[in-house]
Amino acid sequence: MTVPVIDAHCDSLHYPLDGKGSLVEGVERAQVDLPKLQEGGVHAQVFACWVPVPYQRTGAAAYALRLVETFYKEVERSQGRLFPVRSRSDLEMLGEEGRVGGILSLEGAEALEGFPETLGAFFRLGVRWLGLTWNHRNAAADGVAVSRSRGGLTPFGEEVVRTCETLGIVVDVSHLAPAGVEDVLTVARGPVVASHSNARALCDHRRNLTDEQIRGIAATGGVVGVTFVPEFLTADPQGPTLEHVLDHIEYIAGLVGVEHVGIGSDFDGLGGTPPKGLEDARRYGAIREGLARRGFSPDQIAAIMGGNWLRVLRRVLPE
Ligand SMILES: [Zn+2]
Repeated sequence: MTVPVIDAHCDSLHYPLDGKGSLVEGVERAQVDLPKLQEGGVHAQVFACWVPVPYQRTGAAAYALRLVETFYKEVERSQGRLFPVRSRSDLEMLGEEGRVGGILSLEGAEALEGFPETLGAFFRLGVRWLGLTWNHRNAAADGVAVSRSRGGLTPFGEEVVRTCETLGIVVDVSHLAPAGVEDVLTVARGPVVASHSNARALCDHRRNLTDEQIRGIAATGGVVGVTFVPEFLTADPQGPTLEHVLDHIEYIAGLVGVEHVGIGSDFDGLGGTPPKGLEDARRYGAIREGLARRGFSPDQIAAIMGGNWLRVLRRVLPE
């Protein structure tokens, strides 16, 4: 089996949800769609179900369900070219020519609306990845925007982490306030990931991780997904380039080892101009070439491009 290329985060489902085209047929202004993933050699894409802020307070579950349904409509439309990844055996199909695996993720526990049963229901619908918060407070924990509260996991949040581990859902701390990250690292028994966060040491943004947090994630066997969000890459007013992305990968690999870093682009959710040289999903080859230029071996590059995410998914997903 070829080591698959896996991207741990994109926000592209809002295009088909909002009637702005089909990801299977291709959406010109989308950074991720099926033709672009195929051209970029991406074998699996995590599709975030992000609930817009007004719906986070009310109607979050319904909004997330609409995104889940949108994903399966795209799967049906693709006639096998886009397939849902829900089990370890599905992972074995990744890397096959011309097919892309889609992994459903909830970005924020808002959609659970405070009930543990809703997590079970979303699991039955194929959700295999959960970010505990977006930037604000929810029933599970506080997001980075309310860090001053020093709030960590609530008892419900703790139950959510345990239930994820029992069912087979990846636990994601991107967007979580520092106290929550610490709590998840204490409570979790399996790997903990940060799907789309960079190194605070290189770019001092609240959404990035401190060295201590990165070490904590690595100690669980987890992975940090380096993201292309301009503000999380550099404060340089010129804007980021591919080199800034490589800097964050190299830094995290140097800190905790190459086996704990991956990619989590956040394409279609960047909130700004993408890094120069990484305009959309067709450009993944540039990361590979850049890493080779910086002296990473072919095995190390394969691990960073997707092998590390594959290891986590193999440990977490159900049979
Ligand atoms: Zn996000």
